[in-house]
Amino acid sequence: MDVSVVIPVYNEEGNLRHLFDRLCKTMDSLGRSWEVIFVNDGSKDSSGEMLRGFCAERPDVVKLVDFNGNYGQHTAIIAAFERTAGDVIVTLDADLQNPPEEIANLLAKIDEGCDSVGGYRKQREDTALRRYCSKIVNFARDKMTNIRMKDQGCMLRAYKRNVVDAILKTNERSLFIPALAYTFSSNPAEIEVEHAAREVGESKYNMYKLIRLNFDLITGFTIMPLQLFTLFGFLSSIGSLGLVVILLFRRIFLFSEGEAEGVFTLFAILFFLISVAIVGIGLIGEYVGRIYQVVQSRPKYVIKETIGFDKNGK
Ligand code: UDP
Ligand code: MG
Repeated sequence: MDVSVVIPVYNEEGNLRHLFDRLCKTMDSLGRSWEVIFVNDGSKDSSGEMLRGFCAERPDVVKLVDFNGNYGQHTAIIAAFERTAGDVIVTLDADLQNPPEEIANLLAKIDEGCDSVGGYRKQREDTALRRYCSKIVNFARDKMTNIRMKDQGCMLRAYKRNVVDAILKTNERSLFIPALAYTFSSNPAEIEVEHAAREVGESKYNMYKLIRLNFDLITGFTIMPLQLFTLFGFLSSIGSLGLVVILLFRRIFLFSEGEAEGVFTLFAILFFLISVAIVGIGLIGEYVGRIYQVVQSRPKYVIKETIGFDKNGK
């Protein structure tokens, strides 16, 4: 098998027909053997039935993993990765924001010898708030981790078998696939891809899910936030020590604490330090939570049904 296409699906009934037609047209024209693995991530609309329909329509290429509930986009991709047979694996969103026609360009770049090719969206068609938040996360990721990519959020990507096998060896729960793939590649590349606005349905990521995902990106790849906290604690204790020395000096040699002014300044400093401490506790919680999830070692997902795979699960 030359190419496996992996598509996570969560309530995308309005997009699937169009997506499937465009995908088949592109892939059939490439002259390579291919398969597409759809993962139904607990859709509550008719996406599941539509995907079964595709399995019946093109049993030669379509495979389906049907989850018993919603486990999230990245877990869905992992479930599909475990069942891919292709030498090259392509990931793609189901909402047609990533044009399937771009797959040809990704594959051409892989043929040049890259083992992971990411797409970066030249003209990103998302809300201004999303784009702005992404910029901040990009900046933080760039400064704190050694992952260098222009656009971590774009899921239109192609990986060689060895990269996907390495991803499958990790036992992490909250994972961020493009960043993991970057870490495991020896020759990553990025090419410019088109990006379309979502035509049907709305983004499945609300603010909370986005914040979670981006925390996973940072905490999954660096412990620098913890070290920054230690550093801050260190500096502020030096500052406090200075203050203690000054106050003691006044007490002992001038027999005075001064007038009781500055109470509100003191409050301000106190509130600031308390909030920093609370953020610190939350941050430790992030890491402890990651450990907790791995220690629990529950199954990452539960499958209701698979269609189209042979006895070896490929
Ligand atoms: N998705 C999924 N499970 C989820 C959320 C999203 O499988 O819990 C799929 C969704 O159907 C789509 C892709 O992941 O194919 C990207 O989702 P979305 O377009 O909502 O994200 P955005 O483009 O806003 O980042
Ligand atoms: Mg989208």
